[in-house]
Amino acid sequence: MNLNPKLKGQSALVTGANSGIGEAVAIALANEGANVVVNYITHPENADAVVKRIEQNGGNAMAIKADVSNEEDVQSMFQQMYNKYGTIDILVNNAGIQKDSPFESMSLEDWKLVIDVNLTGQFLCSREAVKEFLKRGVVPGRSCAAGKIICMSSVHQVIPWAGHVNYASSKGGIEMMMKSMAQELAPKKIRVNAIGPGAIETPININAWDTPEAAAKLLTLIPYKRIGVPEDIGKVAAWLASDESDYIVGTTVFVDGGMLLYPGFTTNG
Ligand code: NAD
Repeated sequence: MNLNPKLKGQSALVTGANSGIGEAVAIALANEGANVVVNYITHPENADAVVKRIEQNGGNAMAIKADVSNEEDVQSMFQQMYNKYGTIDILVNNAGIQKDSPFESMSLEDWKLVIDVNLTGQFLCSREAVKEFLKRGVVPGRSCAAGKIICMSSVHQVIPWAGHVNYASSKGGIEMMMKSMAQELAPKKIRVNAIGPGAIETPININAWDTPEAAAKLLTLIPYKRIGVPEDIGKVAAWLASDESDYIVGTTVFVDGGMLLYPGFTTNG
């Protein structure tokens, strides 16, 4: 049991929280005392399992189905959250997908789908959260900020990624959306930041780590010589959502075992 929870009395919404990084973030926020909405689009049984795990740890959670790229779904999800928890203090824009292909054969459908979920989804959820943050303002004793938004980006907001042009473009877009929102909203005491994970073991990239050969190849890209686990991101998200990081505004915190250190140059290029 956590005797000094950092997010006590706060309510958080984590998108795509029935799998991988989102699941670990939801659990980490709940362990710090937040009420947590576990958003999902498929596999309700996995969302229910996350809710159950949080409740077994003594926390509060509810599962809500919504497609983050659908405006009506997003608005209804926020309303359902307010009906139960009254408000929102923390939004973690985590839901994301990949639809990989060589550039010349990338369909418009796959381009749009990835941009819609990864980038427009973060816009739609952030806009709803910001409306509530502005309406409610700072609640003394709960948090120094009127609200906190964490955008799940990627090292691929910096590192170009052949065969994944739609995905890398969505993450590059998230960086500038996050920074522009942070600049506009900081005077209203809303903190917007991002997390840039490196290679984290989740279903999205299972082919990159589920065989010894694939894992060995992946490790050549990671100076710290360890593939990340979802909990690595959960811990950082809980801290970034708390007042301990109150002066961090408009920044991407990379959690990547050094992937951004250009490991190809380790042996003098
Ligand atoms: P994951 O596939 O386990 O999780 C993605 C989640 O998003 C799932 O819960 C999925 O159901 C949900 N989702 C997909 N489309 C949705 C929609 N339209 N509406 C609502 N939810 C939707 O993969 P993950 O690795 O946990 O990915 C989480 C985030 O982390 C993504 O934004 C991803 O780009 C980012 N990320 C992951 C890695 C990694 O190495 N795993 C690295 C960098 C960034």
